[in-house]
Amino acid sequence: MSFIVAIDGPAGAGKGTITKKVAERLKLVNVDTGATFRCVALNMLDKNIGIEEEEKIKEVLDKINIEMKSNGEIFLNGENVTKRIRENDVNNFVSPVSTIQPVRDKLLEIQRKIAEGKDVIMEGRDIGTVVFPNANVKIYLDATPEERAKRRVLQNEEKGIKTSYEEVLENIKDRDKRDSNRKVAPLKKADDAIYIDSSNMTIDEVVENVIALINDKYNNSNVK
Ligand code: C5P
Repeated sequence: MSFIVAIDGPAGAGKGTITKKVAERLKLVNVDTGATFRCVALNMLDKNIGIEEEEKIKEVLDKINIEMKSNGEIFLNGENVTKRIRENDVNNFVSPVSTIQPVRDKLLEIQRKIAEGKDVIMEGRDIGTVVFPNANVKIYLDATPEERAKRRVLQNEEKGIKTSYEEVLENIKDRDKRDSNRKVAPLKKADDAIYIDSSNMTIDEVVENVIALINDKYNNSNVK
């Protein structure tokens, strides 16, 4: 039996940072589901396939092989794409790709398989609602759009990319709207998820909070 921690929330809420730290501390397998959507988007870009080309997309999905190594590296069909999937063309294409139902169906299967028999912490948009509705711990990590924009601008600066706060804020608000209103697997808090607003919290405070929640559930579960 496996123990599943689901972390959902909007872009820039800190899911990636928090999940990585919690996984290291508690020795959980860290699964970044956004990376699986990015792999499909990259594979389609490489093959020049548009989002309307159903048959070709099915062919891509039939052959796709995504591996997540324990050191965080991502392999797509045998090739290391860890950095490549964070580049701009993928950033821009991944959101429309994530609305294609056969893509979501295939990735759901892959995400569930990755977790089989393991203790995992999985981050995304629909983990607590669709992928693992019976997860042992569900957390919805949020922050105000203004705080998330501020964090993204800083992150970009660290990578040497200059962006204006206003531009990033606009983009975050747009994305929130699109992700929350889409028909398939929209971004939404599961009824039984614990809501954490990290706007005025440090990374360490959020990590300690999440670890306390997980330990509490783990000690009261039969997965020991
Ligand atoms: O988390 P990340 O920004 O890497 O995710 C990339 C995109 O994949 C998101 O913008 C979202 O549209 C999509 N996604 C999703 N469901 C998930 C994870 C990501 O639709 N569980």
